[in-house]
Amino acid sequence: MDRLHSVLSAHPTTPQSPVQSTKPAYALISVHGDPATELGKEGAGGQNLYVRSLGIALAKRGCQVDLFTRREDPKQAAIVELAPGCRTIRLDAGPARFIPRTELFGYLPEFVEAWLAFVQHSGQAYELLHTNYWLSGWVGLQLKARLGLPQVHTFHSIGAVKYGATDRLALIAQTRLEVEQRCLEQADCVIATSPQEAITLRQLVSRNGQIRVIPCGTNVQHFASVSKALARKQLKLTPDTRMILYVGRFDRRKGIETLVEACAKLPYPFQLYLVGGSRSHGSDANEQARIRAIVQALGLEAVTVFTGPISQAQLPTYYAAANVCVVPSYYEPFGLVAIEAMAAGTPVIASNVGGLRHSIIHNETGVLVPPCNDEHLAAAIADVFADPERWQLLAEAGQQRVQSHFSVSAVAAQVHQLYQCVAPLSSLKSAV
Ligand code: UDP
Repeated sequence: MDRLHSVLSAHPTTPQSPVQSTKPAYALISVHGDPATELGKEGAGGQNLYVRSLGIALAKRGCQVDLFTRREDPKQAAIVELAPGCRTIRLDAGPARFIPRTELFGYLPEFVEAWLAFVQHSGQAYELLHTNYWLSGWVGLQLKARLGLPQVHTFHSIGAVKYGATDRLALIAQTRLEVEQRCLEQADCVIATSPQEAITLRQLVSRNGQIRVIPCGTNVQHFASVSKALARKQLKLTPDTRMILYVGRFDRRKGIETLVEACAKLPYPFQLYLVGGSRSHGSDANEQARIRAIVQALGLEAVTVFTGPISQAQLPTYYAAANVCVVPSYYEPFGLVAIEAMAAGTPVIASNVGGLRHSIIHNETGVLVPPCNDEHLAAAIADVFADPERWQLLAEAGQQRVQSHFSVSAVAAQVHQLYQCVAPLSSLKSAV
């Protein structure tokens, strides 16, 4: 009862009578990836954007979409309307502060109870749960067991890839592997964001369970909205400045170290822009400090710009201004940054790993290089500067590939179709 009271007071505007709507209603759950928060900082990247842009696009298709996440700050609003028909709902589960995802598991039962209390109070019924990352997957498995709701799950990251062949796993890592196996086997359908991710799930997680490949999508018009000339003027770059761009979180898996080492092998002049990273403490700040030390040791301070997090509104300017965008990840289930740069018409060099092998067709829509190899990466970047005509053609082909395969509206249409198969409207609203 206490739990219910705290949720009621956290959602004072929530209606108490059952919601009568003919719209299909879907609950997307992203416990650690708040869809309404600033991106680029620790724990806030592709998953947040995936959930937000999918939610908004589904709402445009006439669905009611609620995106559930955990409150990380007492000052955060309980409900944020992102677009008509799409809202972020922050539930109280554990202390209202940032908690690294490795420490969140113990708070998940509270999240389940908070979700049930919200649903009971608001009267909102959902046809389906779409869970994101293994933590939300666990929440979804509990709700599925208790309410019989269908569950669709997207992994975003796979524990078995992260831990590799490590023998001695921490307890939380073992828990994660078990939960991921249950998600694949028990969810009604898992969305793999690339064919490569589907293969990895089959090889490393389970041979059972349904998988459907639906890529991530991006707002193509948004990332193509700034001209190169204007972007370079806004960033105060002279016409002959060669700009090399990285965008993303500061995480070892992202391979920023390899990019910095590759840049140390390039002839001047060039500018290396490292976009993203929070200004606070935590693993993200530690990785940023480590990269700064490498930049310093290699004598690249004068040519390296650490921008900090840049908003989605400002990012098109950075992509458009860059001569090349590098995605040097050691593993990437999908890799939104690659398709955002391609949408902007900027040449992309990416590691030949995971979903990057799907979005980029080598030597047709960009170039793939072996991960963790600064020599190869340096040679590929040098080629961009040596042969701009060839790279212009690659960039144009990349832009066309994003338009035809990765627009957020086309991706949302596929997800919506999947929801309708998994939860036909007739099964509606009986569960809660
Ligand atoms: N991003 C951003 N601002 C930043 C850094 C990153 O908005 O300062 C966004 C970027 O545009 C992309 C997402 O964060 O949409 C990162 O997604 P990606 O799939 O590349 O990596 P993930 O974070 O999922 O590992």
